Order: sequence, then C-alpha cells, then structure tokens
Amino acid sequence: MPYNYKIAPIHSAEAKVFANLVALREDVTSLVPLIYLEYYLSSEIARRTERSEYDLNDLYMYTDIHCHLNLKDYGSVDELIQSCLNSGVDRIVTVGFDVPSSEMCKNIAEWYDQVYFTAGLHPTELARCSFSDLQRIEELCAHPKCIGIGEIGLDYHYPDTDKERQHQFFKAQLELASKLKMPVQIHSRDCAEDTLNFLKANRALLANGFLLHCYSYSPEMVGDFLSLGAYFSFGGTSTFKRSKKPRRAIAAIPVDRLLTETDSPYLSPSSAFGQFPNTPRSIPEITRNMAEIKGIGEREMCYVVRDNAERLFPKLKNESANKK
Ligand SMILES: [Zn+2]
Repeated sequence: MPYNYKIAPIHSAEAKVFANLVALREDVTSLVPLIYLEYYLSSEIARRTERSEYDLNDLYMYTDIHCHLNLKDYGSVDELIQSCLNSGVDRIVTVGFDVPSSEMCKNIAEWYDQVYFTAGLHPTELARCSFSDLQRIEELCAHPKCIGIGEIGLDYHYPDTDKERQHQFFKAQLELASKLKMPVQIHSRDCAEDTLNFLKANRALLANGFLLHCYSYSPEMVGDFLSLGAYFSFGGTSTFKRSKKPRRAIAAIPVDRLLTETDSPYLSPSSAFGQFPNTPRSIPEITRNMAEIKGIGEREMCYVVRDNAERLFPKLKNESANKK
C-alpha cells in the first residue's frame, strides 16, 4: 500500500493510539479493513499537517540538525513543533550547551517524536561548568535519542576568554566521544587556524565523525577540514545574497557533506531579517538556497541532507528504522 509517510504524534498519549492503529494495520489480512485503515491513517496525517490527503506524497522531509528548542523564546513548544511539521520540517535536533540545557533537550526529545538531542558543554559556557559535569553528559549519551556530543569547540569572540580551559574541555569531550563511539557537533568562532590545528592534533579522536555547525570560515579551508572527515552545516546567514563566504563555501563542499540547520532562536534567514526568534520553520528556505547553489532540486537536496544526517548521526537512522 502507498503508505510511506512517517506518523509524527505530538503527545505520547496520541503516540500510543497511533502505535495501536499501525499494529492493527499490520495484523489485518482482509482487504476491506486494510483500505479503511489506510484511509483513516492518511486522512489523520493530513489533518495533522493541514494538507489535503492527496498531497501527502508532496510533503518534503526537511532536517534541522542544530537548533536550541530549550531556550524559552518560542512561547508554546507544542505549537512550534506542530507548525514545523506543517512546513515539512519533521526532524529536529535540539542542542545542549551545558548540563541543564542538555537535560531540557532530553525532555523535549522524549516528548516529541520528531525531536532528537545532543548533550555537551559549549566553549563560552565553561565558567559555570566543571569536569564532573562530563559524567552526566556521558549518562545522557546513553539515551536512545541522544545522537551525539555537542555543542563543543572553541570560541575566541570575547576578549577575556580562557583559551586554555576551552582547549581542555574540547579535548575531554572529544575523548568522551571517542570512548562512546559518538559523533560530535563542533562550534568554532573567530579561531579558524586554532580549530584546524587542534583537530589535526586530535585526529585519532574524530573517528566517529564531526559536524562543523554554522560553518563561517573560508572556502579555501574546506579542503583541510574535509581531509579530517568533516561535515558542514549552514543556516540563515547563507541565504543572504551579500554573504559571499558561506555561499562560496557551500559551492566548494561536496553535496554528500552538507547539512541544514537554523541555530534558532538565532540567525534568522534573509526573508525574516532581524526577526527573533528564528525557528526550524526557516529550514525550507535554507534548503532551497543550498539546492540553488549546488544546482540540484529542492526535493533532492532534502533527501540528500537526510541521508547525510543519518550517515553522520547513526542514531537518527536507528530511531526512524524502529518506527517503520
Ligand atoms: Zn548553537
């Protein structure tokens, strides 16, 4: 039967009802109830996505690999998730930056089927972090929806930054990732050379893959990061016609290494210039822009990104496989 759209329940109570329906559907042998159930399921999904059931196959499946749903800037997260689904954004990774935010990300991921999370200590948040926090990060990594460690890295933007502490925590979290066989999401700002040298020196810890989120460095450096196995994600800033650097970087990166993100609530895209909060609903615009630069169709870009995301973060794949 042409039933190929993943059901995305909003509440766990609804999830149970749907799980029962799907189980029932698999047990049914007679054609009549099977057709009825197909009709019921597709109209129910259509109702949820506010589209005609005839349009179901036109739904794109967009990915936001890096955002912060844990920040309290959105009003109702329930409404936000529903509106993302209406826009076809049905896979969202909410990223922790210290222990409390990582815990909150876990809670959101447990509540919404289409949300996954990462846990980690961000370089600008280290003043209120301690090495004992790594124990809790490790525990969170065991969660079935924790797809990686992040965001971690280096950030020299603020003049009073403690670079040595940043290096220590970055290294410790790369060691943890290596021990747990987890990929990482890396934040790097105003320190291109140091980041590259740090990653080269710790190459052995990168075997499970890494994402340079919101890549802002030169297209000329892409080759160096690629040789270490990097994936790159781009958000709203790449949609501004005047921002030449990210656009040239996207052009330089092989399509099988590209991912889409919003970093919301920050970094609104061109169509929402200056607006706060940004949301994962911006992903279609970001994907469209990326597809244009790569000279491929938007739908193709969507599926390539989904594929790339599952290759780099295998727990995304396991989870979607479990739902089929
Ligand atoms: Zn971020």
